Amino acid sequence: MTGCLMTLVPFFEGRPDYRDFLEERLKEIFGLPVRWHAPLNLPGESYDGSRGQFRAATLLAAACASRSEEGEIVLGITDRDIYEGHLNFVFGLATSLYRCAVISTARLSNSFYDLPPDNTLYLRRIVTEAVHEIGHTLGLDHCPDPHCVMHFSNSLADTDRKGYRFCPVCRERVDAALLRCRKDQ
Ligand SMILES: [Zn+2]
Ligand SMILES: [Zn+2]
Repeated sequence: MTGCLMTLVPFFEGRPDYRDFLEERLKEIFGLPVRWHAPLNLPGESYDGSRGQFRAATLLAAACASRSEEGEIVLGITDRDIYEGHLNFVFGLATSLYRCAVISTARLSNSFYDLPPDNTLYLRRIVTEAVHEIGHTLGLDHCPDPHCVMHFSNSLADTDRKGYRFCPVCRERVDAALLRCRKDQ
């Protein structure tokens, strides 16, 4: 059975304060059912003690492995700092081949940078990173438009500038991918 739906996979216990906001925005943006998987433990081998960070690809694979339906979009979410390859950190990582992604909320709150808290910005950043990585799972590449959610984000300033909306070109690509997904069902 194939599934045109989205499953969010938390790598933590408990109910985060952004849960409802993220779920509602994802439903609105992608028009797909959104469900939450039971929490997964962080894979032991994902931790890099020399860096004090977790490997994004290992978390991505663990989130992927939790899939219950073929074609389902899977998004892992961790509150730990993650990195990949030669990059000091990543906000997220995705693969379109398996339609899975992972994001980290570690660097999305102002407190990480010793700045005064801003919950509105924090929620918006989480949705932005989630939508960006889900866009990759649907086959979208980075977009040159700095206000499009698919623009590459190297810093929080990039993330804040772009927000979580697709530019018209990327929106068309997302809609085409979602249409294929629905036809597969
Ligand atoms: Zn990207
Ligand atoms: Zn775009």
